[in-house]
Amino acid sequence: MSRRGLLIILSSPSGAGKSTLAARLRIWDDTLRFSVSSTTRAPRDGEVDGQDYDFVSADDFRAQVESGDMLEHAQVFGNYYGSPKAPIQAAIEAGRDVLFDIDWQGAQQIKNSVLQDSVLSIFILPPSITELHRRLTARGQDDAAVIEGRMAKSWDEISHWDGYDYVLINDDLDVTEAQLKTIISAERLRRSQQPELVGHVRHLQSEFGDRT
Ligand code: ADP
Ligand code: 5GP
Repeated sequence: MSRRGLLIILSSPSGAGKSTLAARLRIWDDTLRFSVSSTTRAPRDGEVDGQDYDFVSADDFRAQVESGDMLEHAQVFGNYYGSPKAPIQAAIEAGRDVLFDIDWQGAQQIKNSVLQDSVLSIFILPPSITELHRRLTARGQDDAAVIEGRMAKSWDEISHWDGYDYVLINDDLDVTEAQLKTIISAERLRRSQQPELVGHVRHLQSEFGDRT
């Protein structure tokens, strides 16, 4: 039976582990479509244009927003980020789930959009602020000033934890990965995600009626 696609939103303070977890989920299920965001931030070492992000100029970003091509967009750490609408709509129509790695502002906009009924939102907390700092440093992608900027903003992101459907503490990566898979597997079975159930029950009903 076909089912309706979910919009699976992962948010967390920077460094809590959402990109790592998103990558693991994509290995687990290669039918998951990752929503590649557009951003005005510069690529980091190893990031691939069109794969990790669409790296665009501020003018191009503005044009995308003005023409209504973004499902949501926000300013984060001084750069603009947004989720282009077209690939998301195409995936949903094909019954595919879409995975988002976006901040609380984007999550809130999608929850208020026409696609709100398909949203599954999950917030990832770090086990401690000390560990969050350690992870940002260990990631080795940002200099000390950028890390301090991300740490300074982390409380703002964490303060929105209670707007999400599920909240996980990412202490042991394998445990968190298993919890995410459990949540996604269960949410896929929601009655509202299975429009063909009605037809199946009607079929059962007529088969049942034939016996009497
Ligand atoms: P985010 O996408 O939330 O900014 P990342 O996925 O880049 O965070 O993770 C930040 C760093 O922490 C990475 O080096 C990653 O390998 C590491 N990390 C993620 N989860 C854990 C965990 N549970 N335990 C230890 N290190 C982790
Ligand atoms: P980074 O620069 O570390 O890749 O991302 C910084 C923050 O921006 C993260 O919290 C990330 O989830 C968020 N982000 C990435 N893409 C988008 C997007 O398309 N929309 C919104 N609202 N936030 C995004």
